[in-house]
Amino acid sequence: MDWYGPNDEWPEHSKQYFRDALKYAQNAGWWFRKFEGHSFGIVICDQEMPKGDRCEYLVFSTGRGSEANARTLRSRVDRCPHRKGGSPASAVAIATELLDEAELLIEAAQACMTAADKQARTDELLALAAQQTAQAEETLNSALHLDEASRHDMSRANDLAESVGYHHPADGSLAPEPLLETADDRAALAQQTLKKPGSSRSRVRVRQRAREIRARIRALRAQLG
Ligand SMILES: [Zn+2]
Repeated sequence: MDWYGPNDEWPEHSKQYFRDALKYAQNAGWWFRKFEGHSFGIVICDQEMPKGDRCEYLVFSTGRGSEANARTLRSRVDRCPHRKGGSPASAVAIATELLDEAELLIEAAQACMTAADKQARTDELLALAAQQTAQAEETLNSALHLDEASRHDMSRANDLAESVGYHHPADGSLAPEPLLETADDRAALAQQTLKKPGSSRSRVRVRQRAREIRARIRALRAQLG
């Protein structure tokens, strides 16, 4: 499992729009690593930069690799703040995109938390249905309904996480803690991007938004205990 550099020949994706988007990343100097299974591989902007600091984007194989994901990859390449030479996107634009992603990850974490609550209630109802006879059927129906709602929350959490290239664990189950951690990483990176002095109105606004987002993340983490 080695990295393919910008000058190597990369493995071919089965979808044309992903081949194009990957070529775009490659031409911008990005690196690629092939995976086995659901994920096709991962692209990163700079191989020498530590994980967490560099930009990275998970590419799915067929089925999960939608055209929208391919567009997101291009926009990530455009907005990489680590690009050497060339004209980088403005710090405000980069920070704004990172904060948008942080917010989607927070939403995914919240959906996971709601799903877990519903799942716990489902288990209670199922236990109750097993004990009682009179309203057992009604209780069982409520349990099944809640169970379905919980699955719906998880699938929404998955979609949200995927839309920002979140690299979820191999067993496929999302958990709120790592989602919030990644959201916080992106918000922190947004703050770092805006670290250079400057007090234009948009910079001040985006800095304020980053602080608010990080406070939300702290509150949710406290809730998780
Ligand atoms: Zn980058």
